[in-house]
Amino acid sequence: MTDRFLKQRMKMVETQIRLRGIKDQRVQKAMEKIPRHLFVNEGLHDQAYNDNPLPIECQQTISQPYIVALMTEAMELTGSEKVLEIGTGSGYQTAILAELAGRVFSIERIASLANAARTILDALGYYNVAIRVGDGTFGWREESPFGAIVVTAGAPKVPRPLLEQLAPGGRLVIPVGTRSSQMLLKLTRLSDEPEDVKQERLCGCRFVDLIGENGWKD
Ligand code: SAM
Repeated sequence: MTDRFLKQRMKMVETQIRLRGIKDQRVQKAMEKIPRHLFVNEGLHDQAYNDNPLPIECQQTISQPYIVALMTEAMELTGSEKVLEIGTGSGYQTAILAELAGRVFSIERIASLANAARTILDALGYYNVAIRVGDGTFGWREESPFGAIVVTAGAPKVPRPLLEQLAPGGRLVIPVGTRSSQMLLKLTRLSDEPEDVKQERLCGCRFVDLIGENGWKD
């Protein structure tokens, strides 16, 4: 596959990721490797390594590279864990998770996005990813517990099923707030009790809505 964007990608990681404080070298390497431009429309290839989110189909977005890195670093992946992603979107962050975790389970509510992501992930050889179309606010109970969970859409509250499906010691990274602005939270489950969590605030952010039974209602 053509890699005429390699230079831009290396520069993105250096200036937007490393110099901004993302220290996890496995995250840096994954972002150096994965061809982000292939996850956006051809007309946007030249902007794929810019320091901002970009539109994808169905009024959704591919997140800003720094936010993807921050969320992934907060998941503290070591390579063997099972992870859950809510909001497959373009599949870009899914690919990063596939590089860094053992198995990835990703849920997307819009079937056409899930299908497009599946096609590109297959083309890139990420066979450790399972994608399901549905309401991710219920989680993926049959595959739980997960060592880490990431939610890539803004929620009004932390969906309880996700806490239940997080392994003790596991990390849940999720933007929580209003429809127009959220705080990116990292919750670490401390014991067998789902609500026994340590909460850290990572940064303010603005995501598209998490729509579902345990999210926004429409
Ligand atoms: N991480 C993605 C990427 O790299 O392209 C960006 C995801 S985009 C910001 C958020 C996605 O969450 C959208 O594709 C949206 O359709 C999806 N979404 C919103 N509510 C959802 C839900 N309840 N379950 C699953 N996906 C949901």
